[in-house]
Amino acid sequence: MRVYNFSAGPSMLPLEVLNRAAAEMSDYEGCGMSVMEMSHRSKIYESIIEGAEALLRKVMGIPEDYEVLFLQGGATQQFAAIPMNFLKKKASYAVTGNFAKKAYQEAQRYGEISLAADMGDIDYTRIPRQEELVIDPDADYFYTCMNNTVYGSKWNYIPETGNVPIFSDISSCILSEPLDVSKFGLLYAGAQKNMAPAGLTVVIVRKDLISTPMPFTPTMLDYGAMAKAKSMYNTPPTYQIYILKLVLEWLEGLGGVEGMAKINRKKAGILYDYLDSSKFYIANIEKDSRSIMNVTYHCPTKELDAKFVAESIERGFQNLKGYRSVGGIRASIYNAMPVEGVEALVDFMAKFERENG
Ligand SMILES: *Cc1c(COP(=O)(O)O)cnc(C)c1O
Repeated sequence: MRVYNFSAGPSMLPLEVLNRAAAEMSDYEGCGMSVMEMSHRSKIYESIIEGAEALLRKVMGIPEDYEVLFLQGGATQQFAAIPMNFLKKKASYAVTGNFAKKAYQEAQRYGEISLAADMGDIDYTRIPRQEELVIDPDADYFYTCMNNTVYGSKWNYIPETGNVPIFSDISSCILSEPLDVSKFGLLYAGAQKNMAPAGLTVVIVRKDLISTPMPFTPTMLDYGAMAKAKSMYNTPPTYQIYILKLVLEWLEGLGGVEGMAKINRKKAGILYDYLDSSKFYIANIEKDSRSIMNVTYHCPTKELDAKFVAESIERGFQNLKGYRSVGGIRASIYNAMPVEGVEALVDFMAKFERENG
């Protein structure tokens, strides 16, 4: 039996995709081998990686003047790769949560980094407003984490930055809603939230921004070298890229990111409407900063949080426990979580409120 898995990542993949991968597991399209066993330089694999890139470009509307890179090392590797490749004088970072803070700390190892905003003082309960941002006009880039996976907040606007290109970590919101890629210098995402199994990182970068990285930069972290080699400088994460292609085909069948966004807004709406009507649960993120992928809330006491999590597991829900340093409850409702999963969660929440409120 499949459970409703509310994990923040790795997270649910569409059942259709898993079934298709299972059917093709030992013999991909009659070639007599698994995708896992293929040479990454074979004709047949070429059709998979090129197909994945073409579909991603189509679904996200990625303009021609952007590179699409399929890399490894997770999103966390990019925290270092970004300054190594783009930090010439200085950069400005907005610290809006756990992963933005990690990126900010890592970047400081490589040069001068200024804080454009730090929302830690108010426990990351909202995204900074435009007028609060202090972006150095000479910055090489302005760094944001678009969806804050741990806290459940999201940039619901694209900031004005003058001539400073915006770089954004979109690990936990890629493909969830339409996004105007042309407004960004660089976007990147680890695969394990909305794209594929862990092990693949997608980087989308404006070609004219790519230049010679810092001299000590490993070749594997040199975006120019990876672009020149078409993500095949060494063996790419071949199976993950294949699953990404299947996920993109599934997404297209739902009407692309527009169709996906309708479903995602419906799911988040069901949960937030219930939270807003409840006198029991407390949702801390301010309304205009809410994420539609990670919904965070808590019960009146820590004991009730623990009871909620324990009973939710009995009910067949997995991974509702909040991030270890934050506590409370976090329901991650990525693309592959069906509407029925959210409805079932709200039913359970209402029952728990009646019994414990
Ligand atoms: C999960 C996540 C990360 C970390 O990803 P890894 O692939 O584990 O390095 C970074 N940023 C965001 C926004 C995330 O959701």
